[in-house]
Amino acid sequence: MCGLFGIFGVKEAANYTYFGLYSLQHRGQESAGIAVYNGKKIKEWKNIGLVNEVFNEEILKNLPGEIAIGHVRYSTTGSAILQNVQPFCINFAKKTMAIVHNGNLVNAYSIRCNLEEEGHIFQTTMDSEVIVHLIVRNLKKGLVEAIAETMKQIKGAYSVLLLYDDILIAFRDPWGFRPLALGMLNGGYVLASETCAFDLIGVQYLRDIEPGEILVINKDGLTSYYPFKKEKINKSFCIFEFIYFARPDSYIFQKSVYPVRKNLGKNLYKECPLEADFVMPFPDSGNYAAIGYSQASGLPLELCMIRNHYVGRTFIQPSQRLRDISVKMKLNPVKEIIKGKEVIVIDDSLVRGTTSRNRLKSIKEAGAKKIHFLLSCPPLKFPCFFGIDFPSSSELIAAKHSVEEIRKYLDINTLYYLSIEGLLDAIGDLRNKVCLACFTGEYPVEVDFSFRKNIAEV
Ligand code: AMP
Repeated sequence: MCGLFGIFGVKEAANYTYFGLYSLQHRGQESAGIAVYNGKKIKEWKNIGLVNEVFNEEILKNLPGEIAIGHVRYSTTGSAILQNVQPFCINFAKKTMAIVHNGNLVNAYSIRCNLEEEGHIFQTTMDSEVIVHLIVRNLKKGLVEAIAETMKQIKGAYSVLLLYDDILIAFRDPWGFRPLALGMLNGGYVLASETCAFDLIGVQYLRDIEPGEILVINKDGLTSYYPFKKEKINKSFCIFEFIYFARPDSYIFQKSVYPVRKNLGKNLYKECPLEADFVMPFPDSGNYAAIGYSQASGLPLELCMIRNHYVGRTFIQPSQRLRDISVKMKLNPVKEIIKGKEVIVIDDSLVRGTTSRNRLKSIKEAGAKKIHFLLSCPPLKFPCFFGIDFPSSSELIAAKHSVEEIRKYLDINTLYYLSIEGLLDAIGDLRNKVCLACFTGEYPVEVDFSFRKNIAEV
């Protein structure tokens, strides 16, 4: 869970990157950073915090240049410490390199152990640092060849932007787990995890970086390299980007997210047509599927869980006694609408079940007569090793409990999960090109079970 932004050949590159990262903030709220090539070397600024906490006008003024990369981070490997904030920058042999990475490598731990045995010294506990070590190690073969070699060694999810002095390079794993789009602005080029970052600054979308592609951007323009044979390209786009993660105004894998989420709701109605007084989402994650269900069923849509938009990250962990406060701080039900009604509540997913249980309890306390809870994805039973921050199987409620057991735990009248077929139908032509491992346990890449969140842990 991270957001990437890169820009080449545009004045005030750092300012544009700042705005780009702002619109990708939903992909990571832990830290933010920008690295800029100023004509001589790469300068960076990064810190723990939200984009607007890390940067101000003064800081951006001190990052002049026309080539930049930026990152917002939600750690899925490597703990949330300053050392692990990206871009990860290094100086070596009179060169400077900076990298930003979205995704998880599943074999980073074993590669790191081998490199350490050979004397490599690591500065962070991020899997992304392994990529830099492998590239530098192979650099005598030339930059593109060094990246190609690295891509053949690392396994898992990686959408990467690399700044090597005045060259900007984008590369993506052959499964294409995480998105990465290319656009044009004022004769220069822009790269971003999601196209919502393009809309904000007026970038014209050109295309996605292909799974397995290396795209080099320099003063001569764009050059693509494809180091993998066709049969090694096995498109496995992350389905959870559509279900929950990406912004609904983005195009992901060349498909608009909003209509897919609405289709999920329509398919929920096809599979589970219920009678009730109205449909309501848990905002914002359930909004679009709830619209789809309401339109398909003809039932009215009510937005009667009110979200406090000013709750960012909460620093005070309330005691058990104050737990209700923490739930209601984010979402508070409108009693006047809910009292005495039979309601269909829609959300995108159930992970641990704890948040939903408290939210459903508050709807009951608001006076709902009956609660039917529908989820616009199938039961999440298996952990993700490719960049979505799910807990281990032991914490995923659907991994250990039947739907009926979960319904009882949630203390509601009906619980229904969308089927895998309903999910695939909603994404149409991409149905054979998605990773469904969190539902099926069938991982497109063999997972090295020595994988751990903090790869330096023993
Ligand atoms: P819970 O009831 O604790 O399982 O939480 C379910 C809520 O978490 C839903 O509203 C989801 O939209 C949201 N959610 C789904 N995936 C994630 C994730 N990877 N990290 C944080 N929240 C998530």
